[in-house]
Amino acid sequence: MFPVQTNRTQYIENRLYDVAHNPANQYCSDRCVNGESRKDVATVESTRVTVKTEELDPLLTSIRACRLCADHLPFGPRPVVQALGSARLLIIGQAPGTRVHETGIPWNDASGDRLRDWLQVDRDVFYDASRIAIVPMGFCYPGVDVRGGDKPPRPECAPEWHAQLLPYLGKVELTLLVGGYAQKFYLRRRGQRTLTETVHRWRDYAPEYLPLPHPSWRNTAWIRKNPWFSDVLCDLRDRVRPLVADAR
Ligand code: SF4
Repeated sequence: MFPVQTNRTQYIENRLYDVAHNPANQYCSDRCVNGESRKDVATVESTRVTVKTEELDPLLTSIRACRLCADHLPFGPRPVVQALGSARLLIIGQAPGTRVHETGIPWNDASGDRLRDWLQVDRDVFYDASRIAIVPMGFCYPGVDVRGGDKPPRPECAPEWHAQLLPYLGKVELTLLVGGYAQKFYLRRRGQRTLTETVHRWRDYAPEYLPLPHPSWRNTAWIRKNPWFSDVLCDLRDRVRPLVADAR
C-alpha cells in the first residue's frame, strides 16, 4: 500500500482486489461480475486528485517490477506504461503486442501509427508523458490464442494497478477507451450491447470518456462499414488538440 492513498482509495483498491481474484471476472459482461464490485471499479475515476504527483515514481517502479501473472505470460512480464501527473489526456487500450513487448514502447506499431493519425499528434507529442498518459488494461504482452490473435489483457492487471495509478492522474480531462475491454471495465452498464453501438453513442460518455474501436488493421473493414466514425474522429481531434497543446 502507498502511504499517499486515502482511506477511500484503499477501500476501492481492496474491492478491486476482490474483483481481480473472483474467477468470474474475465471482462465478459456485467452479468458475469458482482454488480457492487463493478460499481467500485467505475468509482476509481472519482478518487483522483487525492495524491501528490511527485510520488508517482515509486508506484511506477512497483508496476515495472510486477510479476503477479507471470505464470500466464509466455514471454514473461514487461509492463509497458506511460504516466506523469501533468497529463491531461489518458489512453486506456488493451495490452502490448509483440513489437511493443520487444521495444518496451507503447503503441509502437501499426496500430499506434493509426491511433496517432486519429488523434492528429506526432510521436513527440504522443510519447510526452507530461501530456499523454498511456495505461493499458494489461501492461504485459499476453501471448497469442489458438487462432493466432493476441490474447485478451490479463484480467489481474487493471484491478491490481489502475486503482493505484489513476488517482495520480488528477489533471486528466479526457480518457480514451480504446477497444472493448477498456469500455466494459470503465463504462459497465453504461456501455451498449456491442462495441459498435457504444462507439456510435460516443457523445453519451462526454466529457470524461470517449470510446474508440481498436485501431488495428483487423478493424479496417469495421471503419469502412461505419462511415459515421469520421464524425467521432472530428470530435476526437477537436477535444484532444487543446489537451496536448503544450506541456504543463
Ligand atoms: S500483466 Fe499486469 S499484473 Fe500481469 S505481470 Fe504484467 S503488470 Fe503484473
